[in-house]
Amino acid sequence: MRLEGKVVLVTGAASGIGHAVTELFAKEGAMVIATDIQSPAKAYPEGVESMPLDVTKEGDWAAGVDAIVGKHGRLDVLINNAGIIAYEPIHELEMKDWLHMIAVDQTGVFLGMREAVRVMRPKKSGAIVNISSIWGNSAVAGAHAYHAVKGAVRNMSKNAAMTYVDDGIRVNSVHPGFIHTPLTDAQDAGLNDAVIAATPMKRGGTPIEIAYGCLYLASDEASYTTGVELVIDGGYLAQ
Ligand code: NAD
Repeated sequence: MRLEGKVVLVTGAASGIGHAVTELFAKEGAMVIATDIQSPAKAYPEGVESMPLDVTKEGDWAAGVDAIVGKHGRLDVLINNAGIIAYEPIHELEMKDWLHMIAVDQTGVFLGMREAVRVMRPKKSGAIVNISSIWGNSAVAGAHAYHAVKGAVRNMSKNAAMTYVDDGIRVNSVHPGFIHTPLTDAQDAGLNDAVIAATPMKRGGTPIEIAYGCLYLASDEASYTTGVELVIDGGYLAQ
């Protein structure tokens, strides 16, 4: 029960990494509020509450966080996990696709942190975990907008960690390598094989392997940990 009594909001909880985080955190005693723009393919565990929340919408964030604080009295942990991916290189990237990526993967993280710190600061306590990527620290060809937002999330996390350190709020980023989820299942198989072949462990990771990293950062075990980038990537970035 490493999260006993903690009130946690997870975005993008219906699928992949977010769903694994929701299941693990509930098992560890948290009151989890699972949010997404779609329903989960696999039902959330008993006790988990769910609500629709589009991370690009200011109104959804304000209403969602107000509802959580109204019912549970506080928000202890925010997992900013919702995300999309796209592969276009700069010369093929249309303005609307660039703006959509920024809206979901970067503005969503900003809005989530803004709403979370609004209610965490008065309590002088809180933990925020933002899901970045190995493409927030390094590059492959193409996927320009995705690299842009994941790099931004890495530095936004460090900035928030510095800004709110005196408010007792810890902010860290998690950087998964290749993880088997519906997001990567939908990708070109050749692309997936290439990333796995370039991974020292020679396999893709599983959502639970990312959820365990989030668990540490969300828990009080990480009380001296802020502004770090936790890379969970089968050794990819160590090369
Ligand atoms: P996924 O597609 O399985 O799940 C993403 C979830 O986000 C979906 O349920 C989707 O409905 C939700 N979502 C999309 N747009 C949203 C919006 N506007 N508002 C709210 N929810 C929205 O993907 P995943 O692989 O589990 O990815 C989760 C996070 O991990 C993403 O931020 C992704 O960039 C990151 N990541 C994934 C990998 C990987 O290999 N799978 C690697 C590095 C980073």
